[in-house]
Amino acid sequence: MSIALGCIADDFTGASDLAAILARSGHKVGLRIGVPSDEDDSPPAPFEVIALKCRTEPVNEALEATGKAADWLLAHGARQLYWKYCSTFDSTPAGNIGPVSEALMTRLGAKQTIYCPAFPENGRSIYMGNLFVGDVPLDESPMRDHPLTPMRDANLMRLLEPQVAGKVGHIAWPAVAKGADHTAARLRELADIGIAHVVPDAISQADLTAISEAVRDFPLITGGSALALDLPRLLAAKGSIKSTGEDITAPSTGKGNIVLSGSCSAMTRAQVANYSAAAASHRLDPLALASGGDALAAARQWLASQDRDAAKIIYATAEPADVAAAQEKLGRDRAGQVVEDALAVLASDAFDHGIRRFVVAGGETSGAVTQALAADRLSVGREIAPGVPWCYADRNGETFAITLKSGNFGTEDFFTRALDMLH
Ligand code: ADP
Repeated sequence: MSIALGCIADDFTGASDLAAILARSGHKVGLRIGVPSDEDDSPPAPFEVIALKCRTEPVNEALEATGKAADWLLAHGARQLYWKYCSTFDSTPAGNIGPVSEALMTRLGAKQTIYCPAFPENGRSIYMGNLFVGDVPLDESPMRDHPLTPMRDANLMRLLEPQVAGKVGHIAWPAVAKGADHTAARLRELADIGIAHVVPDAISQADLTAISEAVRDFPLITGGSALALDLPRLLAAKGSIKSTGEDITAPSTGKGNIVLSGSCSAMTRAQVANYSAAAASHRLDPLALASGGDALAAARQWLASQDRDAAKIIYATAEPADVAAAQEKLGRDRAGQVVEDALAVLASDAFDHGIRRFVVAGGETSGAVTQALAADRLSVGREIAPGVPWCYADRNGETFAITLKSGNFGTEDFFTRALDMLH
């Protein structure tokens, strides 16, 4: 089987989000953590999503990583590529959204692409080229003060222009609202005057449907995850994938479960409190872990003494004041690293204890845990919450289930819901 749509995502939980949305179609979706190695001879799924970590990397490194991902996808038959970034267009003035798009366009011989981070269901809409988060422009939203990619302008054309060499244009909402044919005609008009990079307005999922129909034959599509919702149906209609669902089956896995949480975001804090009320819990303290004492040994011992099948959670999740205190003593990176290292060891221990169901909270944390479990190839199953699917991977010939939840995703009872879904 060859790939119908090859996707490249600029971060890990963004990749999982896109994979979950594509998997809603019932078609098989593969999620690869990093570019697969040459030895990886696993058969590709009709939808493959490669998760990279290149959002804030220097442009050259992002170009190299995305180039390699494109190589792999095209070598495995991908006929179209999808470049996925955040619905808040997270990028620096130097890139990487524009430069990567332009390089992929050159690679594919594409004269034009679109930029559509809109995700109306989550309050991200684009009107007259301006990106809104809820009811405020992007540059008035909390993204204004993001530590790595502060967004100080809401106008996507202005954000894109310094990132690309080609001309940037716009399709205003009244044109998009007239539907797919009209949007396609506007795209052709813009192509005729040499406009390579087009920002279409989108304020509803219906707008995204019109846009995705208009671009369904584009060699490169770029956007957030919501734009991809209709692509499986459109690709099936034009025969790029076998008609309807190959039905993603949830493979059976062993039992034994654990929640590992390294996220300190508000929703995760509520989720940890909710779950800990009825589960055995063990808290990791970054200061104790960093002191070189026996904090990690104690956590490992605690885990070894637990009933494999009972509800349990290990977390470093803490209130902002505690996080700040740990960061002040250890530095932000080291505080994060000691927690990630500990959770990685504990994930691997958990597998050795026979645990086959893992709920992981935190984007960086997810990276550490998947690496520890050598889970670089996941098949995507049912969605637990919007954008968060159960995934399945093999280790030592055994299948295990894992879900990777970024900070603010899911409802308060997410951990219980996730595990209940496997019963
Ligand atoms: P999110 O998806 O919520 O951003 P991440 O896992 O990406 O979660 O990031 C959380 C970071 O905070 C990780 O690097 C983690 O190791 C670190 N961390 C977790 N607990 C603490 C703590 N108590 N003090 C300081 N840093 C912490």
